Amino acid sequence: MSEATRPGAPLAAYAAHDEQSRGRRFPEPAPEFRGEFQRDRDRIIHSNAFRRLVYKTQVFVNHEGDLYRTRITHSVEVAQIARSVALALRLNEALTEAISLAHDLGHTPFGHAGQDALNECMRDYGGFEHNLQSLRVVDELEERYAEFPGLNLTFECREGILKHCSLRNARQLGELGERFIHRRQPGLEAQIANLADEIAYNNHDVDDGIRAQLLTIESLREVRMFRRQHDAVVRLYPDLGERRLVHETIRRMVNYLVSDFIRTTQAQIDLVQPQSIDDVRAQARSLAMLSEECEEEHQQLKSFLREHVYRHYKVLRMTSKARRVLQQLFEAFLRDVNLMPTEHRDHAIHAEGAHGASGRARAVSDYIAGMTDRYAILEHRRLFEPAERT
Ligand code: MG
Repeated sequence: MSEATRPGAPLAAYAAHDEQSRGRRFPEPAPEFRGEFQRDRDRIIHSNAFRRLVYKTQVFVNHEGDLYRTRITHSVEVAQIARSVALALRLNEALTEAISLAHDLGHTPFGHAGQDALNECMRDYGGFEHNLQSLRVVDELEERYAEFPGLNLTFECREGILKHCSLRNARQLGELGERFIHRRQPGLEAQIANLADEIAYNNHDVDDGIRAQLLTIESLREVRMFRRQHDAVVRLYPDLGERRLVHETIRRMVNYLVSDFIRTTQAQIDLVQPQSIDDVRAQARSLAMLSEECEEEHQQLKSFLREHVYRHYKVLRMTSKARRVLQQLFEAFLRDVNLMPTEHRDHAIHAEGAHGASGRARAVSDYIAGMTDRYAILEHRRLFEPAERT
């Protein structure tokens, strides 16, 4: 380990520094015993939305098996990868961790199927974007503090959470939306959390796909990156049992990707020589990246997973069921907000008074987006099955 990457090494000039933070929406005194971004991370960990991630689907529905990733274990894996990269590049580890842990807070139940279904339901009311919803959770929906709504996180953390955003929504977001309009970048900590997200899910979905018997090692050998690492493991350990063989192969893929990620991003930093986080933001392109060859292999793995896991008929059956559950819940609650629990009904009535029909729809969508998989299924039963207790 070089001097520069040892834990405790000073932050690089282009990292996010506490004392240069663009601050919080509601000013607060600086914390006494932690940094500003550590405080962000701690608030995220204590939020209700974070705890709900335990019961939200990544790809496989939560009740399908105890060993599959859920949104929370996915988020922790993202944070682990992103922190390693941040440390190696002398970036702000606490901010990187905070962004990683918060990146999926706005996700609906039932993974991407749920998000697509809710977006479809909200088509006439401004749509539903899960990144924007993550921001809504930390800015408005969490109710934990006496003096402000939401978690009152730093600008840098909120900038990282809002990974994507449509132009229409960006125009309503003030300084946080500016970068989407001017096509600029967030800080490196956010860029790293973003790429760590892709590395994490591409690799854990291989593991989960094998566990669910949607993938075989034989079929995975079509993927160049997998085949190379698999060959190396078989050569070194010809008698290894299948489970250790799979994990050793995936471990090596993650290591290959993360090492390339650090080297390539460091080379970009050396090329551009940013002197501050604003220099990073001013770039037209992300500085965090994989080398061309590695990126190509990574994309090949991603396409393979799309075809063999995400579009597998067993996964599609689950997603079509999930879509129906969310659509029916949405229609029922939108038609009659009195069917929602009191606090959500009150929220809907208040929002309708302030913003009309789209306010009412947004309140319904907030209620549904916050549900865990099993809670959505239970609510669906309570509403539609006559014999079910309400
Ligand atoms: Mg994610």
